[in-house]
Amino acid sequence: MKKGMSKLSSIRTEYVWANPKKCAACWQCVGSCPRQAIGKVSFLWHRHIVFKNAERCMGCKKCIKVCPYGVFSEEMPDVLGRFVKQPFL
Ligand code: SF4
Ligand code: SF4
Repeated sequence: MKKGMSKLSSIRTEYVWANPKKCAACWQCVGSCPRQAIGKVSFLWHRHIVFKNAERCMGCKKCIKVCPYGVFSEEMPDVLGRFVKQPFL
């Protein structure tokens, strides 16, 4: 992650959310992103995608189409939604 980037920018861009917990590290999305916005976390037992250049995302949604595990979405993932929405209920 670049210095100064917030953690949120590793799981969202202006257009797309990612839930890295669902990622199977097949890396199909990494090469599919035309803006090289998606990067890898690749340790032995810790492998998933992150947005490494979230600001470069242009909203083409190729990542949503190519991922077989539903990692990407235009909506905030449920697990985060519950966390963010709860204080306002
Ligand atoms: S295509 Fe989906 S499962 Fe494969 S690396 Fe990308 S986010 Fe992970
Ligand atoms: S929406 Fe397009 S530009 Fe943005 S991360 Fe997905 S594939 Fe890359």
